[in-house]
Amino acid sequence: PGFESLNLDPRLRQALVKANFSKPTPVQSQAIPLALEGRDILARAKTGSGKTAAYVLPVLQSILQKKSAEPSFKATSALILVPTRELAEQVHNVVVSFASFCGKDLRSVNLAQKVSDAVQQSMLADFPDVVISTPARVLSNVNSSTLSLNSLAHLVVDEADLVLSYGYEDDMCALAKAVPRGVQTFLMSATLTSEVDTLKGLLCRNPATLKL
Ligand code: AMP
Repeated sequence: PGFESLNLDPRLRQALVKANFSKPTPVQSQAIPLALEGRDILARAKTGSGKTAAYVLPVLQSILQKKSAEPSFKATSALILVPTRELAEQVHNVVVSFASFCGKDLRSVNLAQKVSDAVQQSMLADFPDVVISTPARVLSNVNSSTLSLNSLAHLVVDEADLVLSYGYEDDMCALAKAVPRGVQTFLMSATLTSEVDTLKGLLCRNPATLKL
């Protein structure tokens, strides 16, 4: 089955056409329907598998639905955590491209850029829908109250094995405590290490486990 069967918002379908995505990759066809039902997802998936769109599409779909039900809603709904500044840039570009037909209904910021605290604050000041960052940057902005996670609905940890092995384990534990209960979690990892399993215990509720 193609992307048509997923009933995505027409603006996301338009972006898929523009990106020349005609048919979902295996991780996308498994993860997206479950994610749209609200399930947590733990996916073993490598770079190149299409893992980014596997979480970006259901997250954007959910935000667009929320905004059509509540047009005045303005808060950060999704947090995407990655191990490196480079990956933050790549993921941000994917979000921007899928959101390109949504105008102001979908705003995304890359908080991991090499910018001052003041610039980070200004990026967060008008409540972007999606924040992409390394864990430490998020935590410092949560601690200084320049980023509120109170309305968070989706949390993604991409390359979770690297996030943990790069020394962000304590930050992840602190963030796990700072996110509201009931947040939908996506853990994407090339390898399912025992550390990833611990993170799963902290963040996920009965996740669908996909081993691609
Ligand atoms: P990722 O694993 O998310 O880094 O994606 C790897 C590459 O595959 C990226 O260049 C994507 O643009 C591309 N890609 C992902 N999903 C699809 C798809 N369904 N159809 C065509 N290309 C795709």
